[in-house]
Amino acid sequence: MESLLLQINRERLLDTLNVSSSIGTTENGGLNRLALTEEDKTMRDIFIDWLKKEGLDVRVDDFGNIYGRREGKINNAPAVAFGSHLDTQPCGGKYDGILGVLTGLEVIRVLNENNIETNYPLEIVNFTNEEGARFVPPMLGSGAAVGVFDKDYVYSRKDTEGVSFEHSLKEIGYKGEAKNRIRDINYFIELHIEQGPILANNEKSIGIVKGIQGDNWLTVKVTGETNHAGPTPMENRRDALVAAAKMIDKVNGITKEIPGLKTTVGKIAAIPNITNVIPGEVEFSIDIRHENNETRMYAIDKLKEQMSIIALIGDVELTITTDWHSDTVEFSTVVMEAISESAAKWDYSTMEFFSGPGHDAKYMAEIADTGMIFLPSIGGISHNEKELTLDEDIEKGANVLLYTICKLANLQE
Ligand SMILES: [Zn+2]
Repeated sequence: MESLLLQINRERLLDTLNVSSSIGTTENGGLNRLALTEEDKTMRDIFIDWLKKEGLDVRVDDFGNIYGRREGKINNAPAVAFGSHLDTQPCGGKYDGILGVLTGLEVIRVLNENNIETNYPLEIVNFTNEEGARFVPPMLGSGAAVGVFDKDYVYSRKDTEGVSFEHSLKEIGYKGEAKNRIRDINYFIELHIEQGPILANNEKSIGIVKGIQGDNWLTVKVTGETNHAGPTPMENRRDALVAAAKMIDKVNGITKEIPGLKTTVGKIAAIPNITNVIPGEVEFSIDIRHENNETRMYAIDKLKEQMSIIALIGDVELTITTDWHSDTVEFSTVVMEAISESAAKWDYSTMEFFSGPGHDAKYMAEIADTGMIFLPSIGGISHNEKELTLDEDIEKGANVLLYTICKLANLQE
């Protein structure tokens, strides 16, 4: 296979990344390129120019997702798709999903300059509003493209200024057509920075992602009785905050009993929140994650039981509501093997693990065999201007992406 001699052009890839790093640059060297803003439009326009220069057939769908198609030898065959997102957090880094799109472009450039034709067509993708920083929820473009979110819901999402998704999409000239949505793909591969410390801590270059860890968000409301801090005897109190504190301790403590479980209480409000008044009501959030769906549900049940006992002893009322439930998505073993073999060709060290955060690949897994390549994030820092993935790791990741795509696009049915 002649394609085995190929490699990506590191300088060209880094130059391309530098262009992206100059659009929406923050004072501290990060990026502020929120979805569907002027900065996002500038980046999109340049990206489309690059795609056209490579002779790709460019489409934009009704959610502003951009696709570039390169035909293969087999007519009307399903495509091998790859990509990620070019939008960032308000104080975001230069790498995140941007690497997934731009390494994909580099793969196309290498194939073009070497006149390599794949059996299956290739499609590079940039998804809209992955970050969820401007329009909530995240991964809106990819979710909408595969029908997880309906169009009215997506179009009516508003930013903090009250501007709708649809309005912004029209404003920057990226409201395309529904017929252009991603479809008929066999495989989807997303390269992304890890956003955690696992690869760096283990001194590995390439993460082979097993799937996206499931998570649940709960809201816990504890209701006691507001009263004066002076005259009310301790034994007569119905203190919602004392009960909530004991519950939060359990939320944290349960992780010591269940390996791999991660729990976070990130939000809390006490009413009336006054120094000399016993809190009558407390509301707090729980974020709970585990790659095994049954284990996660077991942990939730156990926590509910423990919190009920605390409520009973503290003479407070308890209501628990589920705000979000997302099961673990397992990625395709075919794609994982292709990534693993590609890394082995280059003697790059690899490690397999689940992703904590969600990614566009999660929704692509609904329509195709899907996988992800993770690259080390120095210090595990992301969504931060200090985010850093080293040039040598970017080069390695792009080479692995190149071979993974070639392998999957030449598979014979
Ligand atoms: Zn991302």
